[in-house]
Amino acid sequence: MKGFAMLGLNKVGWIEKDKPAIGPMDAMVKPLAVSPCTSDVHTVWEGAIGDRHNLILGHEAVAEVVEVGALVKDFKPGDKVIIPAITPYWETVECQMGYHQHSGGMLLGWQFSNVRDGVFSEYFQVIQADGNLALLPENVSVEEGVMLSDMVPTGFHGADNAEVAYGETVVVIGIGPVGLMAVAGSNLRGAARIFAVGSREICQNTSKLYGATDLINYKNGDVVTQIKDLTKGKLVDKVIIAGGTLEAFEWALKLVRPAGTISNINYLGSGEYIKLNRIDWGLGMGHIKIIGGLMPGGRKNMEYLSNLLKYGKLDVKPLLTHRLKGLSEIEKGLYLMKDKPRDLIKPVVTM
Ligand code: NDP
Ligand code: ZN
Repeated sequence: MKGFAMLGLNKVGWIEKDKPAIGPMDAMVKPLAVSPCTSDVHTVWEGAIGDRHNLILGHEAVAEVVEVGALVKDFKPGDKVIIPAITPYWETVECQMGYHQHSGGMLLGWQFSNVRDGVFSEYFQVIQADGNLALLPENVSVEEGVMLSDMVPTGFHGADNAEVAYGETVVVIGIGPVGLMAVAGSNLRGAARIFAVGSREICQNTSKLYGATDLINYKNGDVVTQIKDLTKGKLVDKVIIAGGTLEAFEWALKLVRPAGTISNINYLGSGEYIKLNRIDWGLGMGHIKIIGGLMPGGRKNMEYLSNLLKYGKLDVKPLLTHRLKGLSEIEKGLYLMKDKPRDLIKPVVTM
């Protein structure tokens, strides 16, 4: 089968591989729609998780089941399914601790395009299908469904980890597709005022659809000053970091109130250390929480998030700015994600 792979650091290309053999709990699927992710860009061009050779990329897909192992109970060939970016083994100690994202070790719930061939392929294997797949609701298109693989769960995880509550003021730094879903998640959790920090006009306009009340362009001057001017110096309840550089943590610490939360979902692909100003952090006694999280996968999470689309509580169509057709267009889609033209939010490739 054909797949689009990371050949090595800074190198991508098409390769041929044997179809993977599936185990008794697994499913073999073929993609119906996939989307390239900024994470693929960090992995290939920043070497953020180290070198990988001939590893098929991609972790966002809606697919059709073509074969299931003998122990799979709830899925059958022909089913249209959402593939979460995170597909762990569910029987580990880390899962029992509540963190399936790290099943088997740090970040190892993230299998596709990390430790296992990804979804940019004619076929791919999903381990533990009953735990990792979810049926795509009938009234949700395959393009919309792909946004449930990663963009919706990641953005919402940012808002969940920040424990955004009614009436709060939230700053979202970075409003690409992930940050936009952090805005939407904060809005659904009841935030009253949401500052959206980005520069692409299309992202700024879209952030308003998802509930942003104040737009900040980081290219127009110091972000902290711009926000504090608008709050008349008052600190905010929560900051979600979904883009930018390591400096975003310094801004966040200057913006968040005592006992507030800084919730990072950005994949920190480069740089060494994050600076925490001791005074901004309340001399170490400010009860300010800093948390960073990998998105949750799992069937339950996918089913509940897809309910939001099914019943019209969340519309992901505004994210889909570039629609491509055919497996071979994956390459173009990945370069769009790398080059980030000003009119891009997210590309999607249907087969
Ligand atoms: P994008 O590149 O589309 O968006 C990044 C955002 O950050 C844009 O709004 C961009 O603004 C803004 N930005 C860029 N530079 C700066 C800066 N110096 N200061 C402030 N803001 C800046 O990325 P995605 O939305 O696709 O992904 C965001 C991150 O989430 C990535 O690191 C990705 O790898 C990660 N990710 C994490 C996951 C997880 O499980 N935690 C899962 C999936 C993705 P501009 O308008 O100028 O472009
Ligand atoms: Zn992704």
